[in-house]
Amino acid sequence: MIKRILLIEDEPGLVLTLSDRLAREGYAVQAAQDGEAGLAKAAAEPFDLILLDVMLPRRNGLDVCRDLRQRGVETPIIMLTARGQVVDKVVGLKLGADDYLTKPFETIELLARIEARLRRAPAQAATTAEADAYQFGDIRVDFRSAEGYRGKERLDFFAREYQLLRYFIEHRGATLSRDQLLNDVWGYDATPSTRTVDVHVAWLRQKIEPNPRHPRYLLTIHGLGYKFVG
Ligand code: CA
Repeated sequence: MIKRILLIEDEPGLVLTLSDRLAREGYAVQAAQDGEAGLAKAAAEPFDLILLDVMLPRRNGLDVCRDLRQRGVETPIIMLTARGQVVDKVVGLKLGADDYLTKPFETIELLARIEARLRRAPAQAATTAEADAYQFGDIRVDFRSAEGYRGKERLDFFAREYQLLRYFIEHRGATLSRDQLLNDVWGYDATPSTRTVDVHVAWLRQKIEPNPRHPRYLLTIHGLGYKFVG
């Protein structure tokens, strides 16, 4: 599974060289060149890791980091700080960054940090997909048989509900827009509306939530979409 990296950096030269190098290392890289664009991308799509510059136009890296964590995005973040910005490092780590690197840095050092962070990251999409089952609360989802259980009681999922739940599990912690869910779970050839997503989420909640009126696992993120936190 190719790891996806989001590079939020405004120096065109650095964006170019880093994107190129990371791509050659086998990562799928996307770049955003200001804080607003980076935040929007990071909140909308799942990434395995985010490289986040501190000094950015429109919204600085510290704000982006804090906003992402507040939205429940738990993607590992490596902050890129300028020399001497010691305060930024401390604040960045407090705001939820996982690591930092001071500019100018050797690319090899950055690659090592990225690798270390990806190894340490909790099971992400790739590893979940390889696992046989996933458990949250008293719910267990068996990926081999495509079945779910609440304790010993079997949950009867419709095919689409199961696919949706599995997609949520594989992207847990990420806010997923209705459009993304439609594209990835229903596919382009389908003709459903975003309302279809809401209906299926409601059905899923009936099956997996202890109290479907007050979801604990499958949360509505107003104005953005849904997030699975089981
Ligand atoms: Ca910068």
